[in-house]
Amino acid sequence: MANPMSTATGAQRILIIEDEPDITEVLKYNLEKNHYQVATAGTGEDGLAAARDTLPDLVLLDLMLPGIDGLEVCRKIREDPRTRDLLVIMLTAKGTEADVVVGLTLGADDYIVKPFSTSELMARIKAVLRRAEPREGDSDDEAIKVGPLAIDLRKHEVRVDGKPIELTLSEFKLLSFLIKKKGRVFTRDQLLDAVVGPDVFVTARNIDVHVAALRKKLGKYGSWIVTVRGVGYRFEEV
Ligand code: CA
Repeated sequence: MANPMSTATGAQRILIIEDEPDITEVLKYNLEKNHYQVATAGTGEDGLAAARDTLPDLVLLDLMLPGIDGLEVCRKIREDPRTRDLLVIMLTAKGTEADVVVGLTLGADDYIVKPFSTSELMARIKAVLRRAEPREGDSDDEAIKVGPLAIDLRKHEVRVDGKPIELTLSEFKLLSFLIKKKGRVFTRDQLLDAVVGPDVFVTARNIDVHVAALRKKLGKYGSWIVTVRGVGYRFEEV
């Protein structure tokens, strides 16, 4: 159903792919109230077609869909050069961490677990849109500063409250990777790829060892490397 919306404002456009009409309705209502322009699709097939045709700023993708499911939709979005860079937030149910891990590996930008509050959803959407603004991955900044943490990427130096701390190369890579992508959840396999490369045979649990060591060295800021149960880790100032 076409939905007349103010196009003059240049509102950001969100595509909801969700088969449950009640949820779609609530999402749409709240997103529009927050000045987003919303389109909806009730199946994976329709959602994919809409994503290709309209190239929305962000896709809210339910994982449990009839026909092709959300993971397959995510895979296809990432495969198609036209839609490859679309932002995707997965909507998942409690107890589906395995799907979340697959989804993140397929390139979803974030996920949110049902049932969620409107404020939680809005915060997540804003965070993902904001992260996308300066293009990720091509920053050649030499220094990153997050509160009391300062990282000199060229010198491989980390300071906490102005004092240098000794990190191994893996710990340094892990910390700078997580901080550069602050707020985003990564699976252990994704972190391993980032830290040691995809061709090295170490188990994903090695990441836990690095994280434990890193947290210890970061002292009271160690808790900023947040464990996301059943999924992986994210960096967040908490
Ligand atoms: Ca569903």
